[in-house]
Amino acid sequence: MSSLAFQDLNMPAAIITEPAELLAAVNQQKRMGKRVGLVPTMGALHEGHLSLVKRCTSEADFTVVTIFVNPTQFAPSEDLDKYPRNLERDVALLNAYPVDVVFAPSVETMYPEGASTSVNPPAVATSLEGELRPAHFAGVATVVLKLFQLVPADVSYFGQKDYQQTRVIGDMIRDLNLPVKMQVCPIIREADGLALSSRNAYLSEQQRLQATALSRALFQVKSLYDQGESDATLLLQAANQTLADASINEIDYVALVNKQTLRPVEQVDDDTILLGAVYVGSTRLIDNVLIK
Ligand code: AMP
Repeated sequence: MSSLAFQDLNMPAAIITEPAELLAAVNQQKRMGKRVGLVPTMGALHEGHLSLVKRCTSEADFTVVTIFVNPTQFAPSEDLDKYPRNLERDVALLNAYPVDVVFAPSVETMYPEGASTSVNPPAVATSLEGELRPAHFAGVATVVLKLFQLVPADVSYFGQKDYQQTRVIGDMIRDLNLPVKMQVCPIIREADGLALSSRNAYLSEQQRLQATALSRALFQVKSLYDQGESDATLLLQAANQTLADASINEIDYVALVNKQTLRPVEQVDDDTILLGAVYVGSTRLIDNVLIK
């Protein structure tokens, strides 16, 4: 049987928009002893998201994918309004996998009038993205906690692409004793190294080429480290030079930090991660590479 014929046998996912319906569906599965997996997304799905979905459907008995562009994690100056949304396309992509439920709530459902409680995110939220986008991780932590409540999953899947986010959620799970495990999945890249992102759709052809300098700069540092260089200042100079050569001049940060604490290191070691956030035109791109 061809794999396509096999996929055709999948039941299409149920599309649920109401929290009570979702919780009831998940609880029913849990009562039957099923292992429930959760993949939170903001939609505009690409192969990066789908790698999480693939892993979840292969490990869990019941997979819930959520699609929700969460307004509380965007600053007023950011791209909330123009963020790509296409539920029909996303559901069609998800139906190539044995996804059981797509939860696609409205903003009013997730944040009814008067909703004012939020999560104070853990210490790892303060540096890097948190410094530049002060309310971002409170928004992320709040919506993820809400999704964990609505989908009492055994395991949740997140991408290393948003590395600091995985640290924030990991610490929130620990600090609040949340009964869910987190799996961090590797970054899926284009053939030329660019990390897949829904925001890549904003790039012009020329910017798309320019954007490859970000992953090039990060992998160059890794290869210099592999060759024996461990001085963070020198390594960051090399990365910044590669970005400058590609005329990427608006750099939010390129940082070598401890992968647990996210605090800067002077000497790079196997526990270091290199993260970058830059603008290509008006599009903000992030990427990271684990040094080991
Ligand atoms: P988003 O829709 O951007 O909120 O992303 C939803 C999930 O997909 C997050 O856990 C992301 O880290 C993950 N993700 C996004 N891009 C990629 C990628 N290129 N490779 C792997 N995971 C990704």
